[in-house]
Amino acid sequence: MSGLRLEDVVAQAPESARLWEALAERRLELPRCGACRRLRFPPLSTCPYCGSSDHAWEPVQARGTLYSWVVTHVAFDASLADDVPYVVGTVQLPDGPRIFARLEGVAPAALAPDMALEGVFGDEDGLPFLRFRPAGAR
Ligand code: ZN
Repeated sequence: MSGLRLEDVVAQAPESARLWEALAERRLELPRCGACRRLRFPPLSTCPYCGSSDHAWEPVQARGTLYSWVVTHVAFDASLADDVPYVVGTVQLPDGPRIFARLEGVAPAALAPDMALEGVFGDEDGLPFLRFRPAGAR
C-alpha cells in the first residue's frame, strides 16, 4: 500500500491530470507544444523549451530505449520495503522526450545502455502506472 491517492497526486500537479487519465486507460499521452512542436515531459503548463502555454495532448508510443538508470537498495518509503532492490530508468522515447519509470522483468546486472524497452501498463492501490521491461520479454 502506497497510501497515495490519485486525487491528491493530481491536486499537487493539476497539469498532469490528463496523463493520469490516459494511464488509467492503458495509454500514454503527452502534451505537444503548439509553438515549438516538442513533446513535454513532465506535462508542465508552459513549455520548458520556448515558454509557450499553447499545447495539445496526443498519443505517444510506450516504448523506447534505456538511457540511464538507478538501482534503489534502500526504500525511501515503507510501502516500497518489499520491492528493493528496484530499478528506475530514464527511457528515451522514439517521439522525443525521456521519461522516468520503474523497470521490471530484468536483473539490474543485465541492464545495458540502449536496451530496447516496451511499456507495461497497470495499477497498484488505485494508482495507474507505466513501467518498462525488455522488449519482447513476454
Ligand atoms: Zn515550446
